Amino acid sequence: MRLTYQPFELLLKHTFTIAKFSRTSTPLTLVQIEHEGHTGYGEASMVPYMGESHQSAAAFLSKIDVSRFSYPFDFAAIINYLDGIALGQPAVKAAIDIALHDLEGKLKGKPCWQLCGTDPAKMPATSFTIGIDTKDVIIQKVKEAEGLKVIKVKLGRDSDKELIQTIRSATNVPLYVDANQGWTDRRRSIDMIYWLKEQGVQLIEQPMLKTDIDGNAWLTEHSPIPIIGDEAVQRLADVEAARGVYHGINIKLMKSAGMYEAQQMINKARELGLKILIGCMSETSCATLAAAALAPQCDWADLDGPLLTTNNPYKMPAFKDGKWVLSNEAGLGLTLL
Ligand code: MG
Repeated sequence: MRLTYQPFELLLKHTFTIAKFSRTSTPLTLVQIEHEGHTGYGEASMVPYMGESHQSAAAFLSKIDVSRFSYPFDFAAIINYLDGIALGQPAVKAAIDIALHDLEGKLKGKPCWQLCGTDPAKMPATSFTIGIDTKDVIIQKVKEAEGLKVIKVKLGRDSDKELIQTIRSATNVPLYVDANQGWTDRRRSIDMIYWLKEQGVQLIEQPMLKTDIDGNAWLTEHSPIPIIGDEAVQRLADVEAARGVYHGINIKLMKSAGMYEAQQMINKARELGLKILIGCMSETSCATLAAAALAPQCDWADLDGPLLTTNNPYKMPAFKDGKWVLSNEAGLGLTLL
């Protein structure tokens, strides 16, 4: 078995602005693991606020002993091994986990979604995120989103209502809202949520600071639409604490350290009666197809990475009626350009 990797800079179509920062590209580390003539592909998407970088990924990968990945893969043992190398760094761990899942599918001659026990007919429509911007750019972005079934909007500024009204002047599709911890006042937040519901908003992500457990729990108790924890929920150990604080959780492979633990989080959330949104960072087709293999097990999908970037090194996966289409190819179903 052989592991190789390269740094990559994934370029965004638009400057991406959320409540706390802006950026125009995202550092990725692309990982390949080869075994018996097959290659599994993975990637780490390292958005700056999560604290990983090309340097930290390279340092982590240089410590990997691939002889620990004997086939057939024991993913529980592998994640324990990776967690033993360093705490945190979930994105680079996800890169390894995704590459091994792709490789496993290829070695078994089966698509990853089938190995995950996923029913592809249950694929939810994916939302398309529109960042905070000027009115004209927002309308342009909405036009680009034509054919998509759901738009996700990043809120958390004084001009939030105008932003929603601008989008509503251009489209009637359902909306998801992500406040990225930007709201502070409970009463103002609940008034806003009721107003947003009237505007066709179907869920709210992380309204208040992840540390404001009482505030988020209060909103969850009073909100007429689901409140979803994102920043508050990283890995499996965080799922239990979401009960009573949120209606549901946002699982992302770059937080969960990959597909294996994301599946454990899905199972745990179901057991606890929590709803599930499967989301992404800025990702290529690779991590998107990995998340799409699990998406039909979730309630909502926000897997728009390849739709928001310009230099995806892989072929765009099939996309129909606002949904990613899972292929019958072995592994993730990824094609290099
Ligand atoms: Mg979010």
